[in-house]
Amino acid sequence: MKEACGVFGVYYPGNRASYLTYDGLFTLQHRGQESAGMAVSDGQTITVFKEMGLVSNVFNETILTTLEGFLSIGHTRYSTTGSSTWANAQPAYRPMGHAGFALAHNGNLTNVDRLVEKVGMMPGMVTSDSDVLAELISKSSFFSGKDQTHALEKAVGEVINDVEGAYSLVLMDAYRLMGIRDPNGLRPLCLGVFKDESTDSELGWVLSSESAALNVIGAKFVREIEPGELIVIDETGIKSYFPFIVEPKEKLCIFEFVYFSRPDSILYNREVHGTRRRMGELLAIEHGVDADMVMGVPDSGIPAAEGYSKHSGIPYGQGLVKNRYIGRTFIYPTQEQRYKNVRRKLTPLKENIVGKRLIVVDDSFVRGTTSSALIKMLREAGAKEVHMRFSSPPFKWPCFYGIDIPTKDELLAANVEIDEIASIIGADSVGFLSLKSLMEAINAQGKEFCNGCLTGSYPSPVPTDAKPAIKMPATISDAKLFEKL
Ligand code: AMP
Repeated sequence: MKEACGVFGVYYPGNRASYLTYDGLFTLQHRGQESAGMAVSDGQTITVFKEMGLVSNVFNETILTTLEGFLSIGHTRYSTTGSSTWANAQPAYRPMGHAGFALAHNGNLTNVDRLVEKVGMMPGMVTSDSDVLAELISKSSFFSGKDQTHALEKAVGEVINDVEGAYSLVLMDAYRLMGIRDPNGLRPLCLGVFKDESTDSELGWVLSSESAALNVIGAKFVREIEPGELIVIDETGIKSYFPFIVEPKEKLCIFEFVYFSRPDSILYNREVHGTRRRMGELLAIEHGVDADMVMGVPDSGIPAAEGYSKHSGIPYGQGLVKNRYIGRTFIYPTQEQRYKNVRRKLTPLKENIVGKRLIVVDDSFVRGTTSSALIKMLREAGAKEVHMRFSSPPFKWPCFYGIDIPTKDELLAANVEIDEIASIIGADSVGFLSLKSLMEAINAQGKEFCNGCLTGSYPSPVPTDAKPAIKMPATISDAKLFEKL
């Protein structure tokens, strides 16, 4: 169960929350393309609509008009292919109390088995960790009390200390919107506001995985939700609680800066794009090489390629065209399918690259599929040399907190020596940004990160089989496959 998703919530009396949530989810589409859904309340009844597919395929004018109400939460889901089913689409809903509650989750829980046992779910009933979370909350005694006005927030406060792993959640009952970030703040969540400009009074509130989605709906960024903070928004205004027993730490996932978040989002008080450019500049300092052109792998490698070019003085150029209508290649189950899909997604611009010594910048290196497919294509198109540069260190450890970074035997850099990588993927040279420079590029003074996928050091207990394997045969056969394809 691996999920890194987009979550969104709106509380805006007098307005149609479904339209705003649609725009919010549309902006968060990059965080998940498998399914989309929303729950909407008119103050009495919650209606949930969710379906497999992209936000624009799932919702249309007719559906949005029927979803009436001023209060809404929404979700876009990213998952591995195998677990991409309707049952796993969110929001999860439970018909508790007067109208029930709905929940949308970004992240991955690390103690699901224990929670499943605690709530007494049969293994076959468990569709996702988010569903287990909804079940856990629904079992709270606060839902059987007479006065259920604040049952949901009390229930969340009661059970949340048992939940381990990564979670940025948005929740709602029929009357109020809530958001909570796990005490390590692993996944992002921010707060926005709708204001009456003339009186400076607050008219409505928004919760979003990323701040970029606020601009789109005309809300203003207020702040990031603190790690371990529970926000409750209702007609009395906005309240903040810290229901955790453990001391909150700030351990935002470093991969949000490297790849996952939109470049126009704000994390740790800085716009992501600028940090990616800086990663490229530092990459040029650490791994300079003589060449004719610097190019980025669209889209995620482009800001760092610009930075590399700026610092090195080597001209920036476009060497690849991306087909925007193809989804992520990363989640296909076999190496062969992933490889073929990279070739479908990216095609070389021959005139721009023929006879040139190229520096090709991408954001990250996982299995090596993208780079080996690209190098082959670029050479076939006439490139003289191909030097691969990555604006992050290579991934050597799996992620347990919701980024689909696969098992350690699939992570090429966990299984071979770094200086073997160039020949395996067919590059003239390879260079990875060091962790030190990555931190310097982000420059979030006083802030900490989860960098478990790079260092193997995780901020909370993870399954014990997480040690990287050395020289796994799977990787060697990948190398053979690259040669063959
Ligand atoms: P790989 O081809 O396996 O080396 O993966 C690296 C490429 O996939 C880079 O182009 C990244 O931008 C992209 N990527 C890395 N991690 C992920 C992820 N968790 N989900 C989707 N794409 C990713």
